[in-house]
Amino acid sequence: MQNVLVTGSSSGIGLAIAEHLMALGYKVLTTGRRQIERPDYFKADLTKRGELDALINYAEKYLGCVDILVNNAGEYLYAPVEKVSQEELLRLASLNFLAPYTLVSKLVPDMKKNRRGRIVNIGSISGAVGEANASLYSATKSALSGLTKSLGLELAQDNITVNLINPGWVETPLADMACENSEFDKDTNLEIIPQKRFIEPIEVAYLVEYLISEKAKGITGQSINLCAGLSIG
Ligand code: NAD
Repeated sequence: MQNVLVTGSSSGIGLAIAEHLMALGYKVLTTGRRQIERPDYFKADLTKRGELDALINYAEKYLGCVDILVNNAGEYLYAPVEKVSQEELLRLASLNFLAPYTLVSKLVPDMKKNRRGRIVNIGSISGAVGEANASLYSATKSALSGLTKSLGLELAQDNITVNLINPGWVETPLADMACENSEFDKDTNLEIIPQKRFIEPIEVAYLVEYLISEKAKGITGQSINLCAGLSIG
């Protein structure tokens, strides 16, 4: 199993996953919204169906077939429910849920044919427990949990595993922006984390490394909280 597509890999968690898997010898296609001129990078806005289709075509050309899909691209929104615009609703639903669903639906046929595959979705602790003033974000991440469990069942006999990682606070530009846009600053957020620290992006990459390995072939349909203890109180 060598070929990997990691979405949202121009920054933060996705970049750490892509760089780590490349260092381990996987062939990785990266993607994001920035313009970067490299054959192993494809620029695509995943809220746009045409660009999503173009990414899938390029992935099949560059990688041959995608054995491993890491659905990582995502956007956070801190806003009370009555302040969420229709445009934000469609954008977060498209990026955080419809794009992962579409990618899975287009890439699973080859995985089934090859009788091997790994799908790792990046959710959030906000999808595992609730988050006030982040209902849209939380709902899109919870949707990934249903997708993970159902696909785990559906693909169980095809040698394809599907799992969800729910990070807590991770040191990335998204977390910095989330702290800036809410009434809670970083120090206040650190106070409520049992380990009193943000997760490092590489820690998510280490868990992805394990979940896509042969050693983890028995783990499917699971949601794993990687949150420095945030989910336990
Ligand atoms: P980030 O902002 O550093 O990176 C986001 C990546 O997604 C970038 O590569 C960006 O180009 C891509 N992206 C954003 N909008 C896109 C779009 N419309 N089309 C295509 N690509 C797009 O964020 P991050 O913190 O690394 O987050 C990665 C994932 O981890 C997200 O799904 C996020 O919800 C999740 N997460 C992050 C945290 C955290 O504290 N950082 C916590 C829980 C979950």
